Amino acid sequence: MTVSHILGYPRIGAQRELKKATEAYWKGDQDREALEYVGRDLRARHWAAQRHAGLDWVSVGDFAFYDQVLNVSALLGAVPERFAAQQELAAGDVSLDTTFRMARGRAPSGTPAAACEMTKYFDTNYHYLVPELHEHQRFQLASTRLFDEVDEAHQAGHSVKVTLTGPLTWLWLGKEKGQAFDRLTLLEEVVEVYGEVLNRLAAQGVEWVQLDEPALVQDLPLAWQQAYERAYHRLQAAPLKLMVATYFGGLGDNLSLATRLPVAGLHVDAVRAADELTHVIDRLGPHQVLSVGLVDGRNIWRADLAALWERFMSVKVRLGNRLWLAPSCSLLHVPVDLALESDLDNQLKSWLAFARQKLDEVVSLSRLLDNRATAEDETRLDAATRALDERRDSERTCRKTVRARLAAIQLADSARSSAYAQRALAQRRKLDLPLFPTTTIGSFPQTQDIRAARRAFKAKTLGREAYEARMREEIAYSVARQEALELDIPVHGEAERNDMVEYFGERLEGFAFTRFGWVQSYGSRCVKPPVIYGDVSRPAPMTVRWSEYAQTLTDKPMKGMLTGPVTILHWSFVRDDQPRETTCRQIALALRDEVVDLERAGISIIQIDEPALREGLPLRQGQWQAYLNWAVECFKLSASGVRDETQIHTHMCYSEFNDIIGAIAALDADVITIETSRSDMELLAAFQDFAYPNEIGPGVYDIHTPNIPEVAWMVQLMEKALEKIPAERLWVNPDCGLKTRHWEEVEPALANMVEAAKVLRKRY
Ligand code: GLN
Ligand code: ZN
Repeated sequence: MTVSHILGYPRIGAQRELKKATEAYWKGDQDREALEYVGRDLRARHWAAQRHAGLDWVSVGDFAFYDQVLNVSALLGAVPERFAAQQELAAGDVSLDTTFRMARGRAPSGTPAAACEMTKYFDTNYHYLVPELHEHQRFQLASTRLFDEVDEAHQAGHSVKVTLTGPLTWLWLGKEKGQAFDRLTLLEEVVEVYGEVLNRLAAQGVEWVQLDEPALVQDLPLAWQQAYERAYHRLQAAPLKLMVATYFGGLGDNLSLATRLPVAGLHVDAVRAADELTHVIDRLGPHQVLSVGLVDGRNIWRADLAALWERFMSVKVRLGNRLWLAPSCSLLHVPVDLALESDLDNQLKSWLAFARQKLDEVVSLSRLLDNRATAEDETRLDAATRALDERRDSERTCRKTVRARLAAIQLADSARSSAYAQRALAQRRKLDLPLFPTTTIGSFPQTQDIRAARRAFKAKTLGREAYEARMREEIAYSVARQEALELDIPVHGEAERNDMVEYFGERLEGFAFTRFGWVQSYGSRCVKPPVIYGDVSRPAPMTVRWSEYAQTLTDKPMKGMLTGPVTILHWSFVRDDQPRETTCRQIALALRDEVVDLERAGISIIQIDEPALREGLPLRQGQWQAYLNWAVECFKLSASGVRDETQIHTHMCYSEFNDIIGAIAALDADVITIETSRSDMELLAAFQDFAYPNEIGPGVYDIHTPNIPEVAWMVQLMEKALEKIPAERLWVNPDCGLKTRHWEEVEPALANMVEAAKVLRKRY
């Protein structure tokens, strides 16, 4: 029989129960027992859902109150000293509050300390807590949570497969602190503790442990490849079966390494690396199990059961009972349950599958392959085929006008009419700006009041007219404040925007929004990405009225504000029936019309934000250039419909440009504003070395803290910038938007910033 399982289930709960419970606990509104109860209840329900769907195993170990990588750090006793958990470590029981302090710096008990760093998990929008590693660090089994959860699942009568981040990927995700050293020197001891964990699980009667090793889909240095072999040779001694799980891409040059590991099973991602499957099967040991991830764990589309059934028949013949089926990766990255989406129309709903539905898909496929399909499986098969046919032929997904326009794009459409040098002259004539022009990144504080108005408008207790009047009032307020502060380039402040992607998605055709389509981003934080299901077009201008209104309030040039095509694409669930770049081009064309309309309405500076450009980089360096080529082209397509004298800005908030500086320059934005204050302007070296030709606004203060930056400090930062970039090409602005700050912080901070620009103008 074909075994069906999953690599992990979302833990937040269909109604975000975990978010609510943890936040109530942090606030002190709920005690630890109540929080633990919610955790137990969610685990029980998620295991029951897996079993009820007919999976052969339920996954234990995927639950976490904050983060699964952090859980492994606690399990291994990798708790930095500043959290003062020596007693807990000695007792082998790192407490929940200690893990919360590691994650957020504070918890209901214990002394606050600087939180651990957090960063994105591979190419997902999920953030994990970065393990802190020191030379000669000691490890020890220091948490019983995993074992308790195994007991819990056993008591409920489930067949348990444990899932756990593998030792190499855990180390790979970690970061060396203190004196420089090679973190692979820690491997031996880490593996020692993993060995203990496995022994203990075996004693509990666990038969299979899945060790997640997605690091195997990345470019690994030779020493790491060899370390894999060493570590798994040690671990194979454990009296249970190991499955190494790889996902998010192909194994590439790690393929023979992965198939040679002395483990009982291997999981591969057959969605993102369909072509590799035969090679993997060819190299598989004669008794090894192959778990095939054939249902997309990263996206929300219904699987084509008929096509998958056919595609995997021959695999089934080759592998027999050694074939297992699963989603491509943990379902952590998709929303929980489609059944709750009462507001989506039935057709669109029939095209989708969330975590709960994906369980059924995996189970049905395994029964179809075994020739033991039930009536239910047949119904699912037919329904999937019907939905997919409809989706393919629907005018909602395939719109002739959009396609015709896309086909007619010419090379020249993705380039401004003149080179930067010539545009700069036209812009100087038109805008007549001082040296070191001052501006902001777009948003001003989203006050309680603004949010309340938006909620009331959504709930229909506030009419459209009243709501819009309220937003105009807010815009007028922010423009007046900016005038008083003497900022050279004001913005309208983005009061009317709930979110920089959602706002545009709601105004574009081809986008849909769910009610409960939440996905965990980090800790208790969830995001609800829009769904791009169809060809994208812009039925009407999206921002023009607001910018036009804001321009009437000032004689200075008002900066129009848009989210770029790559960022909109990257922060949405994207259709899987055409290349991502095609969808991106459609969004770019819609934005191009907006840019042209803004220009026509008298807006002479337009900023197109692309904070997600870097996030879209593929996991393998070899694929970077292909991505950057189309991403850059899409940005330029959106920006290039305007005259020379119209100034295009872009904004990015990260501080790693070295390896993509060529692409950044290729965007050919007249001005780029970037995050730099925390890196002390160091990153401008990349721009200098590249002889970056256009204008740059290096952020002069960090907007993530409430601290008011001092004039002298910002002047000094700009002096550093001036060592690398000539004065004529420098702007003065904060690191990012100000929406999360309060006016009491924003006003003095910007006043100091404007003052700093004045000091600089006297000097240069
Ligand atoms: N214009 C946006 C803002 O100011 C940019 C946000 C971002 O870079 N993430 O809020
Ligand atoms: Zn930003």
